[in-house]
Amino acid sequence: MADVKGKPCVICVAITGSLPTKANNPAVPITVAEQVESTHEAFEAGASIAHCHVRDDEGKPTSDPERFARLKEGIEAHCPGMIVQLSTGGRSGAGQARGGMLPLRPDMASLSVGSNNFPTRVYENPPDLVDWLAAEMLRHGVKPEIEAFDLSHILRAHEMQQKGQLAGTPYVQFVMGVKNAMPADRDVFDYYIRTVERLFGKDAPWCAAGIGPAQIVLNDWAVSSGGHARTGLEDNVRLDRDRLAPSNAALVARVVALCEKYERPVADWRQARQILGLAAPM
Ligand SMILES: [Zn+2]
Repeated sequence: MADVKGKPCVICVAITGSLPTKANNPAVPITVAEQVESTHEAFEAGASIAHCHVRDDEGKPTSDPERFARLKEGIEAHCPGMIVQLSTGGRSGAGQARGGMLPLRPDMASLSVGSNNFPTRVYENPPDLVDWLAAEMLRHGVKPEIEAFDLSHILRAHEMQQKGQLAGTPYVQFVMGVKNAMPADRDVFDYYIRTVERLFGKDAPWCAAGIGPAQIVLNDWAVSSGGHARTGLEDNVRLDRDRLAPSNAALVARVVALCEKYERPVADWRQARQILGLAAPM
């Protein structure tokens, strides 16, 4: 096992997502006010990145830039220094509407660079849309987080970096455990790490997210392997088979416990910004 002791671990909290509802877990924050409060608790618990989706008045996913603006302002006011990452994922809009919030110039935005299956549909990321989203991120100074649902997405990110479509070292997140996409497979996970290190350098930071029961598995693999970890109610609403997670902060606390187990300090927002090459907030 790699020597990871003492290496700060960045915790990302994916607070809401597009799918979970209050019926799944009453702790899922839906309104902007709920989202800001839940993010604040998670920030206090140790998260330094907030991965954000927004919902409309009926609780359905939307890409409405005005909602994203209110959420971004709320997080910046209540969690000073925290990294705000807005989702350009495909469940909340179609085509270029997915990037309509990028002129808000959040610190980061998610970027899917290829297509794959989701539980009940195809997750479509056509090349022209991927190129456009990447160009918008470059234009507005937004750092992408590459969502790698498949090995090819890591290689695609490298190709985009070589062509100048991505600034700096890409920050890749391995996503495992989405039904009908890549399962939580340890050999593949290890190969993902090797691929990131080969393409982007030994010290390139990377992150991992697991869906549902795979969340804690991927948290453990990432923390013990020197990566960074994503948690939150977007990906998983349960603590275990019998108990719902009481909050996003409770899921962050599970990752903090893993950091203690593997003797890694939890990165504060300053360290997280340094690790990711992000400027200090204005
Ligand atoms: Zn998301």
